[in-house]
Amino acid sequence: MVRPKTSEEIELLKINGDLVSRTLAEVGKMVAPGVTTERLNEVAETFIRDHGAEPSFKGFEGFPAALCMSVNDVVVHGFPSDYVLKEGDILSVDCGTLYKGYNGDSAYTFPVGEVDAETRKLLDVTKASLYKGIEAAVAGNRTGDIGYAVQSYAESFGFSVVRELEGHGLGREMHEEPGVPNYGRRGHGARLIDGMVICIEPMICAGGRGVYLAKNGWAVHTADHRNAAHYELTVVIRKGQAQQLSTFDYIEKDGLIKF
Ligand code: MG
Ligand code: MG
Repeated sequence: MVRPKTSEEIELLKINGDLVSRTLAEVGKMVAPGVTTERLNEVAETFIRDHGAEPSFKGFEGFPAALCMSVNDVVVHGFPSDYVLKEGDILSVDCGTLYKGYNGDSAYTFPVGEVDAETRKLLDVTKASLYKGIEAAVAGNRTGDIGYAVQSYAESFGFSVVRELEGHGLGREMHEEPGVPNYGRRGHGARLIDGMVICIEPMICAGGRGVYLAKNGWAVHTADHRNAAHYELTVVIRKGQAQQLSTFDYIEKDGLIKF
């Protein structure tokens, strides 16, 4: 059984959610052709530490950096590197923080300069599928209702859903119960209850859903090397409904990313 979070715990998770949201926006301001993902990682790590928090990914099971930087066919868990972003790339940035013993975790896929229409569609649909999942995250539903909502929406556009990775509960640990798959059957899986804090994070492929693990043991690539997108938000179920503890507003409300 998942223990519901107390209001004090939810408050700390919200502070973390706000910090990861603002960190992603700091990174977003700098995403452009000519920038290395290593540079973006440095800026984010400094920003997180300047706010009195720790970058929770750094050192987690040996992960070497503050952020996951996953370019184009890398779905998730890419290492920041000296790779220079170029026009038309997409960059998934996944950010985790640890503040006062609680975690933050969110991700956003940024277009680098102008991307082609199909890639734009992949980004839009993946993000919209996340919001479909959030709508389904109501008390009494089950994790399968979230997965069904994400999957049915994404697949209706001809895209495919990665099944090897999933969302999760969030609290003192970065990954808690329940697992939150991005595919599934309505009425199946763990029951959602008030006080539950979960991360919903669709990973959607332009082509087939097959993936493989790179030799470094971390980066997950699409098998067909077509693009994949990844968006993640943290929500709490309160009064039966999902309320966001993290947001893309800092990224999108200043007009940097146009929709
Ligand atoms: Mg994440
Ligand atoms: Mg996560």
